[in-house]
Amino acid sequence: MSIKVSLVSKIYKTQKALNTISFSAQKGQIIGFLGPNGAGKSTMMKILTGFIKPNEGEVFVDGIDVLQNPLEAQKTIGYLPEHNPLYSDMYVREYLQFQASIFKVDKSQIETCIQKVGLTEEAHKKIHQLSKGYQQRVGLAAAILHNPNVLILDEPTTGLDPNQLVEIRELIKELGKDKTVLFSTHIMQEVEAVCDRVIIIKKGEIIIDKKLSKLQKNNQQIIKVIFNTKVREALINQLENLISSKDISNNTWQLTFNSVEDMRSKIFDFAQKNNLKILELSSENKTLESLFTELTSKE
Ligand code: ADP
Ligand code: MG
Repeated sequence: MSIKVSLVSKIYKTQKALNTISFSAQKGQIIGFLGPNGAGKSTMMKILTGFIKPNEGEVFVDGIDVLQNPLEAQKTIGYLPEHNPLYSDMYVREYLQFQASIFKVDKSQIETCIQKVGLTEEAHKKIHQLSKGYQQRVGLAAAILHNPNVLILDEPTTGLDPNQLVEIRELIKELGKDKTVLFSTHIMQEVEAVCDRVIIIKKGEIIIDKKLSKLQKNNQQIIKVIFNTKVREALINQLENLISSKDISNNTWQLTFNSVEDMRSKIFDFAQKNNLKILELSSENKTLESLFTELTSKE
């Protein structure tokens, strides 16, 4: 196991930020740590990286007990904290040299990392001259200097424009090829784009921990269709794979199917066969996005 968290609780004065959290991650997984603001994501990450201690529970990273040996554990962890603290007056290469000297990393790693995160063209610039997306790359380069097995990235894409977002996601995917990555976000699409697995946390508790493929594997299709004329229920019921149908108004039906095939094309065939015309056809499936909103907003 790359990461093993058992029954971790954290209380800030009177507030319980984490309530008996447990999860583990296998080597090579990219896990999206998803939750609304204040859910406890950063708290969990600070505990995982040995920067704060939990009130209860155990944390192992790469087999090392983080609470007993935080410095030892940090050698195997690359951490990009929230808000990516950088010395903005330093040059990119100079900053990475400085980081390498603090962490006693072989200087030869610097150029490799600059290349890995796509900073070659910018490495001679001052950090404050870079766009936010490129500053994130500097943070990522600093996090991987010591070639850690585990990457903990706290909202690495927050505040990026859409192009930068795509680039950083690609970079995380690339880095995840030979590392275990846990990264937090409050954007569901991001998890869909990058991760194998999602852990959803709400008010300090894990409410979902699933492989993404399992979460997406849902053959139920809800389709709204408007015909040019009234259609009898008996006729509607001839549609294959139909589980239920709702007559919304004269010509409008909401149809629920269970099928691996996209039933929209079947509905077209059905209309043609019965001399009906379709005025409108829309899929009303639950996306992961709406699932997330539903899960995290319910009291
Ligand atoms: P997230 O990263 O998911 O937004 P955090 O882990 O930062 O959530 O915060 C979880 C909860 O703990 C929040 O309600 C936050 O206000 C509280 N909290 C975080 N850090 C501290 C702290 N140092 N002192 C007191 N409360 C804190
Ligand atoms: Mg946070």
